[in-house]
Amino acid sequence: MNRTARQTWSPGRDDGALAELRGMVQACMQCGTCTASCPNAFAMDVTPRQMWRMIQFGMLDRILDSRTYWFCSSCYACTLRCPRGLRLTSAMAALKRLAAERGGAVGRGNGAFYAAFMDNVEKYGRAQEALLMQEYFIRKKDPLLPLSFAGLGLRMLGKGRLHMPKLARKPTLRAIFAKAREIGGAS
Ligand code: SF4
Ligand code: SF4
Repeated sequence: MNRTARQTWSPGRDDGALAELRGMVQACMQCGTCTASCPNAFAMDVTPRQMWRMIQFGMLDRILDSRTYWFCSSCYACTLRCPRGLRLTSAMAALKRLAAERGGAVGRGNGAFYAAFMDNVEKYGRAQEALLMQEYFIRKKDPLLPLSFAGLGLRMLGKGRLHMPKLARKPTLRAIFAKAREIGGAS
């Protein structure tokens, strides 16, 4: 389970950035059910419950420092079990968007991978590793980045874990993504 250092008070500098998120979690009563339900909480630097409190307090700097939302795999366990009925998975997605916009180089880097992954799944119905990384490199705009992944790519290819683009499936998930955007649930 999480071994987070004690959080100190850091009043919000930019309330506008957190306004939407505050509205999503302001009814949180800190029961901890979300954290107890989260399969990824053990790897998070801040638990989901702590994250909602940091949002309520407007601790934008600490929120942007955290990697918690990048560890969220959108499993919806917290959303299903929250006794307040809060849309917690959507809140995690909103945090990813916020961090990609405001989180500096780390936020933009993680945001680029996240966007490439979601685009890949929407287009092909599953993650196509080769195309996923190609899209990620394009988004990062760093010509040297592919070199740092060359060894990993070759090892995956050798073990048969890297599926080439010819296996791309039909875009079966486009309608689902479109509906999710329509109702505000797409990340
Ligand atoms: S389960 Fe809901 S009410 Fe309980 S801590 Fe999490 S967000 Fe707050
Ligand atoms: S949706 Fe994200 S935060 Fe919620 S339980 Fe699943 S992994 Fe944890």
